[in-house]
Order: sequence, then C-alpha cells, then structure tokens
Amino acid sequence: MRFGLVCGTCGKQKPFDLQGMKCGCGGTLSVEYDLERVGRTLTKESLQSRVTSMWRYEELLPVTSMAHIVTLGEGWTPLIRLYPLERQLPLRKLWVKREEQNPTGSFKARGFSAAISVAREHGVRKVAVNSNGNAASALAAYAGYAGMEAYVFLPKDCPGLIAAECSLYGAFTCLVDGFIHDAGRIIQDGGREQGWHHVGTLKEPGRAEGKKTMGLELAEQLGWKLPSVIVYPTGGGSGLIGMWNAFMQLKRLGLLMGDLPRMVSVQEQGCQPVIDNMERGGPFVPITSGVSSNPTGMRVPEPPDGELIVRVLRESGGTAVAVSPEEIRCAQAEMGKSGISSSPEGAAAWAGFLRLLDRNWLRPSDEVVLFNTSHAMKYTPSQPDRLPVVKTYEEWKRRRA
Ligand SMILES: *Cc1c(COP(=O)(O)O)cnc(C)c1O
Ligand SMILES: [Zn+2]
Repeated sequence: MRFGLVCGTCGKQKPFDLQGMKCGCGGTLSVEYDLERVGRTLTKESLQSRVTSMWRYEELLPVTSMAHIVTLGEGWTPLIRLYPLERQLPLRKLWVKREEQNPTGSFKARGFSAAISVAREHGVRKVAVNSNGNAASALAAYAGYAGMEAYVFLPKDCPGLIAAECSLYGAFTCLVDGFIHDAGRIIQDGGREQGWHHVGTLKEPGRAEGKKTMGLELAEQLGWKLPSVIVYPTGGGSGLIGMWNAFMQLKRLGLLMGDLPRMVSVQEQGCQPVIDNMERGGPFVPITSGVSSNPTGMRVPEPPDGELIVRVLRESGGTAVAVSPEEIRCAQAEMGKSGISSSPEGAAAWAGFLRLLDRNWLRPSDEVVLFNTSHAMKYTPSQPDRLPVVKTYEEWKRRRA
C-alpha cells in the first residue's frame, strides 16, 4: 500500500479513509506514506524536471492515480528575500513566502487541489465546507473545475468580495448567523441527508496534505536547509500541522540538512485560543464567548485539534503571539511599501514578527520566513448582497424548498 492513516497521538494505524479523521483516543489521523518507496523516485535530482506546481511532490500526496488530480496551477509560489529590511534588523535573513499568488488568491488552493483530487478519486459528487472565506472560494473553484456541486457556509460578516467570489465559481453560497464552527454544524447536521462530503478543517485527509506542500517547497527552494524560524498566521491550524508533517517526512527521507525551524503562530487579539493555551498548558480549552476579532482566517475560536497545534509549537521550540488590529493595519501598510500586497493574516505574520524582535526572541543568527497567506484585495470592504443568511440546517432547508 502506498499510503494509510496514522494517529498523531497514540500511533495507531488505519487503512486510508475519506472521512473519519478522529482516532478512538481522541487524536487526529494523518496520512502516512511508504517512505521507503517514496524515496526511490522522489529525489533532489528527479525534482529538477518536474511540474512547477505542488504536484511535483506527487509521491507525498494521497492520490493513487495522477489522472485524477484536479489542478489549477497551485503551489511553487515565490519566496522573496527582503534585503533592505533585513539589513536594518538584527537577524541574518528574512523572506516572505508569497502564498497570495496561488489560484483564488490564498494558500487554501493547495489544500483544496488535494482534497478535491482525493474526493474525485473516490467518486464524490457534492462537497461542502464551512469557512471564514478563503477555504470557501478555493473549494468553489476546484469543485467547479472538477464538475462537482459545492456548498459553502460563511459567517455573515465575512469579507464580501470573497462571498461574491464563491458565487462566481458557481457554489451554492450561504451566510451563517454565527462563527465558523456554527457554519460547520450546519454541514454536520445536513451531511447525510444532502450527501455532502465535508471538506472542513481536519475532516478529511486531503487538505492538510495539500498544505504540507508549503513545507516541502520551502525546503526545496532554500536548498534543503530550512529557515530557523517560520511565522504563520494560524486559524484552524492545518497549515502549521501540515508543514510540520512535511518536515518530519523530509527528515525521514534524508532530504534535509540542518535543524528544524521554530514554528510561530500569530493570531489577532480578541480570538487567540492558541496563544492562551500555549501560556496555560494542560488540555486545550477553546474560546466559547467574547470573540471580538475581525473576520479573517485567524478567527477560529474552536480549532478542530488545538492540542495538536500547541504540540507542534512546543516540539519545535516555537511560540505564539497575539497582535492588535492596529498593529495589523500598520503591518499591512509596511508590507505594501515593500511591494507586497498582504491580507490581514499575512500582515499579522509581519506584526507578530515585529513583536518577536521587540521581545528579543529572535537571534542575530536567525533566518526567518513569514507566510503571506493571501492578498489585500480580497478584503476590500464590500457587503455581500442577495445571499441567504441562516442559523441552522433546518432553516437552510426551508429556505431552499
Ligand atoms: C485559512 C487562513 C489562515 C489560517 O490557516 P490555517 O492553516 O487554517 O491555520 C491564514 N490566512 C489566510 C489568508 C487564510 O485563509
Ligand atoms: Zn490515537
């Protein structure tokens, strides 16, 4: 077998499965590969003549036949060195990974290219996702290209342009009176009746694997030596978890030189469960009230596996920082002046990086990569119009009847 599933907590193995990523012990399952077999064809040399998309790492993606892949050209995004800024700062090197260059304008494209490919391989026809925006528009685009029906559920205060983008790609788009987990409940409640394949964060095996390619790519683009610090705006956490899995696999494949990076999560004040739990320790406690941060990809009060996020941060020797809306605004302007269009999340990474400098957490020898996960334009103020707003699955059904 080329790949199966394994629990990150207890190590139990299971055959590959399209749904059911929770282990009996409460841990999250992830895809495990036959790395001995992978290593026979995935080599530094073989990569030199491969496609310039994330599918260059096909052996490390959970698709059996390349004939099934659904690709719009995602991945292999530029890694830009910020020379002028670097010279003014007490560190060795500074880069921005330009994930806003992906199809649909965010790194979410990677996850959905993989998830929809896997789903297509298993004969899925209808897909649904709960999202703060970018996951929904990415799903809409990939499902559209694959000829599947897409149902997306977004908090009603999500960026209007992103909701409009979902409709543009032909998705059944619905706004939800609540947060991303309330939107998820609608899919949970209606899944069986509607025949939806739930592609929410960590609900299926594809998305985290697609996001993993950010880590694979970073290693390859830097000559197989990772930076010492990665700063990542964190919401559901699959980007962080995926990248960490990538590093483990590259290490076992013998492709990496040097140490693994310290991973840093950034969230916006007003919804910072990762920071709170890093400080508190013990079992992960989600945020159940008082959420006041802006509607971005970082606003996930109840991450599906917060424990795993915290474990990755700790294991890597990393940390988590919260930044204010004002710091995000300033960072966005700062990045703009450096020629980079950044979404609030990408700007938060920059703002978090400044905090790390302030705290003297960074070392003069550090080489830092910031992830600019999306671009500014998607967040231009605009009201989503003429879209239904619902609170529950029952209400959604009534509105559709
Ligand atoms: C989803 C999203 C995030 C959060 O990523 P996770 O991997 O879910 O933690 C960050 N930035 C943007 C632009 C996003 O769309
Ligand atoms: Zn387990």
